[in-house]
Amino acid sequence: MYKVKITTIFLLLVTTLYAKELEKITIQLDWLHQFQFAGYYVAKEKGFYEKESLDVSIKEYNSNFNIVNKILTTPNSYAVGKSSLIIDILDNKKIILLNAIYQSSPMVLISKKESNITSPFDLKNRSVMLTSDARSAASINAMIISQGLKLSDISFKNHSFDLEDLINGNTEAMGCYLSNEPYLLEKRGIKYNVLNPKDYGFDFYGGIFFTSQDELKNHSQRVRAVYKATMRGWEYAFNNIEETAKLIFDKYNTQNKTLEQLIYEGNLLKKLSKIDEGLLGNIEKKKIDEIKRLYILLGFGQYAKNRANVEDFIYDSSNIQYSKDQKNYIEQSKITLLSDNNFPPFAMMMNNELTGIELDYWNLLIKKLDFKNSNVEITTNIKESVERIKHNPNLIKYAFSKRDTSNKTVLTDTITEIKIGIASLYDKPYISDINQLNGKKIAMIKYASYFNELKKAYPKIDFVEVKSANEGFKLLEKKKVYAYVSKMPALNYNISYEGLTNIKIVGSFDEKYQLKLIVNSDNKTLLNLLNKAISTITEKERELISSKYYSVIFQNSYDYKEIYKVVVPLIIVIFFIIRSNRRMNMEIKKRTKIEKELQQMANIDPLTQIFNRRKIKSMINQEIHRYKRYKRNFSIIFFDIDDFKFVNDNLGHSIGDEVLVKISNVVKSSIRDTDYFGRWGGEEFIIILPETDKIKASNIAHILKEKISNNDFSVNKTITCSFGVTQFEESDNEDIILSRVDHAMYYVKKHGKNSVKVA
Ligand code: GH3
Ligand code: MG
Ligand code: MG
Repeated sequence: MYKVKITTIFLLLVTTLYAKELEKITIQLDWLHQFQFAGYYVAKEKGFYEKESLDVSIKEYNSNFNIVNKILTTPNSYAVGKSSLIIDILDNKKIILLNAIYQSSPMVLISKKESNITSPFDLKNRSVMLTSDARSAASINAMIISQGLKLSDISFKNHSFDLEDLINGNTEAMGCYLSNEPYLLEKRGIKYNVLNPKDYGFDFYGGIFFTSQDELKNHSQRVRAVYKATMRGWEYAFNNIEETAKLIFDKYNTQNKTLEQLIYEGNLLKKLSKIDEGLLGNIEKKKIDEIKRLYILLGFGQYAKNRANVEDFIYDSSNIQYSKDQKNYIEQSKITLLSDNNFPPFAMMMNNELTGIELDYWNLLIKKLDFKNSNVEITTNIKESVERIKHNPNLIKYAFSKRDTSNKTVLTDTITEIKIGIASLYDKPYISDINQLNGKKIAMIKYASYFNELKKAYPKIDFVEVKSANEGFKLLEKKKVYAYVSKMPALNYNISYEGLTNIKIVGSFDEKYQLKLIVNSDNKTLLNLLNKAISTITEKERELISSKYYSVIFQNSYDYKEIYKVVVPLIIVIFFIIRSNRRMNMEIKKRTKIEKELQQMANIDPLTQIFNRRKIKSMINQEIHRYKRYKRNFSIIFFDIDDFKFVNDNLGHSIGDEVLVKISNVVKSSIRDTDYFGRWGGEEFIIILPETDKIKASNIAHILKEKISNNDFSVNKTITCSFGVTQFEESDNEDIILSRVDHAMYYVKKHGKNSVKVA
């Protein structure tokens, strides 16, 4: 008896101690368990939450309550919602959006192929099963209205959530999830059509994670912890789809899905998350604003007293919270960076000032941490610097992660990753597979931190040791070596700074090197502070810093006075144009009807402001019609940017976006007003040329090819495109002409790119 008592007391003690450590929170899902919520399961089951001292319970959807109200009234609660949360924000519900997992919503309309519904217009007088919650149906309704159809032209039915109703013909179209129903239909061999609001310009977020403003105000540390562990969970889930599907299959399979189905779902949702483009969890203010505008247009939140400023409702994950010790350290200590001054473009002297990538990151970190007292000391002796750090806990220096840290020093988290790039002569092809370098002589600096590793990893490459970048480039110019390899930013810098116009970057190794800081291992406060600040560096900040060191150099060769002469009047003109535009827009806004605005949204690609795929398709059909009726010729030019992945991978997605915009502008300014120019998808474009035969069209394509390849995109790489050209022929239809021009373009891709093929 006595013994039993002791154990019970002991157990009680242990559990209470334990319980005190972990903070309990709930995450309310907005549907039943499935891959759609994988990140939360993974964060829980893999212990990511526990590591942040969180005890999370994940709750399936329950139709008995409104999720937003529940979150606002229940402490410690988080939830997942749709873009319609923006309506709640308009209604002044005090929530905060933490992340958006799906960059496009998976909600679409699906119909059986035999129903022949290929555009929203075909829905006229048909039956459509859609959720009765108008807010959830907004993107689908917007798509329908934008096509000139009235909602009253459609016979809507309440959603049964039973796919059999579509299969049996009880409804002709059904609101579905791209990640679910298509799989089931394919399994049963049923052909189907998809109407996706995204193709009509109504691109909504999905899987938005949110909590209450109160939670953020009172427990900002906890919000940060939940955010961090959740993001980690998602990253793991999308990078390990099969393992994650198995976990859901074993532990969360309330819907009795098959393992195969969960894997299918995972793969599709991964695409919607755009994790491969570095956009996992991304919430863009601009996009939220666009969605808000659309909701207001559709009549939601119109009478909200408080037209909330959306920015206040998006969580800023860069918001750093400090402990008392940390605050004191920031206020009272002086920290010193020991920096090289001859390591371009990382740390170098320019106009008598120490500058470079490392200095920019240093300044960024100091600013983020709000350090009162900091300075930089120039020293070039690496060994001595490390020794000094061991004895002085307020000294810091940079290092690439491969460098060893001995006892008494420790490395911070990664500030930025750097690739090893490959530079070669201008006429050499891009390297998509490193094996292309086998047997070739490649120059590499002997003292570089990556020297031994690359040598070991690529024994078939004949590496030639050089002492400096200068020597490497000289050998390359004399054709003594095939290529020179170095850190990507250094290559970029050298090529632009030294005006090596005959040399370009042709590829990169897969290996990445991490730029970190070395600190004294006893100074945990400083280490934690730096890691906190590093974790808040955004991709945008990284891109800004890395792109600086070649755009700045480019500008150096300009005569600023001349530029001002042109730029200042231009700015004045632009200012007036913008102002009068704004006025005009306000007038138009007053007058135009909802349908007009929606149509506009449905036809224009938001990034490049040229026509989108849907509009181009409809213009092709219009031209086909004109051909059939009046025998009017027309041609099509189809082009795709060459090696665009290279731009994205090495300069970042937003620089890639800029290139897309610039190309659109180059083309726009080079074609006739009567031509139709649009974005077909990713980095593919189409021009429709009415009253034009293929010979004339091919001439235009050649001109565009030259203009693009001669245009300065400020990316330190010549941008080129491959063009296909064709003319409409008697026996053609939309599919045939598109496939012919597509094949012509691919012919060029296969035969060296940057050229034109007429078919
Ligand atoms: P190829 O010469 O064979 O065309 O090579 P490529 O690298 O251009 O390859 P591909 O056409 O297959 O790849 C297109 C890339 O374009 C992949 C994708 O990441 C990128 N991309 C697509 N849409 C966008 C976009 O909106 N913005 C940016 N920055 N990149 C995009
Ligand atoms: Mg391409
Ligand atoms: Mg492409």
